[in-house]
Amino acid sequence: MKKTVLIFGLLMANVLAAQEIPLNAKEVIKSFYTEALGEQQGYQWLHHLCTEIGPRPSGSEAANEAARWAQLEMLQAGADTAWLQPVEVPKWHRGAEWSKVISKGVTTVLPTTALGGSVPTPLEGILAEVVEVDSFEELERLGRAGIEGKIVFYNTYMDHAMISTFNAYGGAVKYRWAGAMEAVKHGAVATVMRSVTLLRDDLPHTGAMSYGDSEQKIPTAAISWQAADKLSQMISSDPTAQLHLYLDCGVQGTAINYNVVADFNGSVKPDEIMLVGGHIDSWDLGQGAQDDGAGCVHAMQVPSLMRQVGYQNKRTIRVVLWANEEFGLDGAKEYARWAREQDVHHWVAMESDGGGDVPRGFGIGADEARVKMVRGFKELLSPYGINVLAKGGGGADLGPLRGHDDFFIGFRPESQRYFDFHHSARDNIDAIHPRSLEMGAASMTALYYLLDNNEDE
Ligand SMILES: [Zn+2]
Repeated sequence: MKKTVLIFGLLMANVLAAQEIPLNAKEVIKSFYTEALGEQQGYQWLHHLCTEIGPRPSGSEAANEAARWAQLEMLQAGADTAWLQPVEVPKWHRGAEWSKVISKGVTTVLPTTALGGSVPTPLEGILAEVVEVDSFEELERLGRAGIEGKIVFYNTYMDHAMISTFNAYGGAVKYRWAGAMEAVKHGAVATVMRSVTLLRDDLPHTGAMSYGDSEQKIPTAAISWQAADKLSQMISSDPTAQLHLYLDCGVQGTAINYNVVADFNGSVKPDEIMLVGGHIDSWDLGQGAQDDGAGCVHAMQVPSLMRQVGYQNKRTIRVVLWANEEFGLDGAKEYARWAREQDVHHWVAMESDGGGDVPRGFGIGADEARVKMVRGFKELLSPYGINVLAKGGGGADLGPLRGHDDFFIGFRPESQRYFDFHHSARDNIDAIHPRSLEMGAASMTALYYLLDNNEDE
């Protein structure tokens, strides 16, 4: 009997050694969650970022205030170093903006917002007939004969039959990005679009657009979901209905914003960096709570929770909060340039840029062996709702770090409601549940703790 127990014990030890999971992993992981939910440091941070600092658009002083604040918080949380990396970014300006549809002598105001990067309208605005299209194909079919001198209305949708809202976003966002540059080829004078959202709300959602190589730049805006329904009805009953669009906006040169880089040195392999980050900038219509204040405080929580529960990381945990993701990825590009110059060895890099809803899992952008390694943690993480350990992933800000031996991880919270808030005035602290946010932070910490105790195969 005694012998059997001994053999069994040895076998267990071997299996655990092969998986490289510490014997007290279950307890340590649990302590991250109880600490996160108990103290709610991440939520307190996010509350400050949203309500005391507010929207942090590209080139704004608020983005710099946020960076300085995060630097201090990281030092207070025990960072060995925390510094600000200057990044040149476009300075985005948004002033008054509106549109009205005039049909049969009646004027109806439509909730409207300029897309990021749009040129302004003339002071008197642009008044023109509207031509509705449901795709770039329809735009092509109508051609110059149908488009010239008119405002193109992209009545385009995120595909709401798709389960992945991020995939649905990917399908619809091309009209936001390229709508103006395609319409101008056929002589359009401006474009408006149905907001890229799945909520049937009455708030417009902004986001970056591009003119590509077009020499002629026309103003471009989003209108709310409900406004898009209204506009569509009005022009179908009155094809001569006119839209009056006014936008005071534009890029006003450049400014300096900052990446925040905070290191919590590793005790065994300090040169192997485990990067965790989010982007500190936001669009200007809301407080940037979901996008991406949540991701910033998630990242800040990872080393902080480790310190709180008394875990000493073996590798260096580096928190990076990138400047200007939304309007050109400038912070990510600058960090990657610097890291290459310094020959930084990122052993793994994780981004949280999917909001602060309850955790569902992680996307793993890596070779088979590392995907397998992360999947080996499933049993330890699934009690906390981590059930998706999918192949492929990362985040927009990790893109510029791409190399030959990538190990990228994208945190994946529940995303069905993410685009309700995304880039709109609804993206405020009220959009965040403290428990969901903290569960996400603890999940990311748990994964980094497990990885910190593993080697490459
Ligand atoms: Zn984002």
